[in-house]
Amino acid sequence: EIVLSARNVTKSYQTGEVEVKALAGVDLALQEAEVAVLLGPSGSGKSTLLNIMGGLDTATSGEVFFRDHDLTHSSERQLTRYRRDHVGFVFQFYNLIPSLTAWENVALVTEISRHPMKPEEALSMVGLKSRLDHFPAQLSGGEQQRVAIARAIAKRPDLLLCDEPTGALDSKTGVLVLEALLRINAELGTTIAIITHNAGIRQIAHRVFSFRDGRIADQTVNDHRITPA
Ligand code: ADP
Ligand code: ADP
Repeated sequence: EIVLSARNVTKSYQTGEVEVKALAGVDLALQEAEVAVLLGPSGSGKSTLLNIMGGLDTATSGEVFFRDHDLTHSSERQLTRYRRDHVGFVFQFYNLIPSLTAWENVALVTEISRHPMKPEEALSMVGLKSRLDHFPAQLSGGEQQRVAIARAIAKRPDLLLCDEPTGALDSKTGVLVLEALLRINAELGTTIAIITHNAGIRQIAHRVFSFRDGRIADQTVNDHRITPA
């Protein structure tokens, strides 16, 4: 079953006199419970598409559906509700609140969610059961990113959208972050899209979409996917 579909999506940005075409007609569908990886050179449109899929931005033309929900004809208010109830975001930088513990950072989200996990449950899923009372400054970069992931999944989103989640981490730490994402996909069945430059991440994906000049130039299904232990 398709969770999210984009059809012939374009996005143009006007900066002064200059029009930049960030997306030039993209077709993509994310299947229920799949891990999709978005690869491609800088500036090829990956973040733009991810933001449109997550309701943070809107397409210039084309169709975007979350299940039978038409995102291109949604109001700001409907998009806000869509983000709140259905989408978790993970970015390169963690944006944790420094004065709150790991548990409290996650609890901020669970307090306003409809069917949340307990913060300790979400943190345990990313391997941080022993770090509940630590403040961000007491955690490594990889641990902070895993707190951010726990925060994103605690509301049980249908879609988890990750923009360069390992971009600020060394490769060893990055692996732990990727393992956490795999565990979430396996245990919760969350559909996950990950933008990355990390080639190793291909091995964990069900599908890889390669972007070039605002288009998807290539799409491959991974028959030899590495699954979590
Ligand atoms: P990627 O994620 O693959 O690096 P982006 O989606 O960030 O690519 O960017 C695609 C193109 O759109 C780039 O040329 C970028 O400069 C441009 N772009 C992205 N966001 C904006 C914006 N807010 N205003 C103007 N141009 C933008
Ligand atoms: P939420 O309902 O998830 O608390 P908010 O309404 O507070 O979201 O924020 C609007 C959206 O912006 C959220 O979906 C949030 O995840 C997203 N967001 C958070 N950090 C960033 C960022 N660095 N860049 C773009 N969007 C972000």
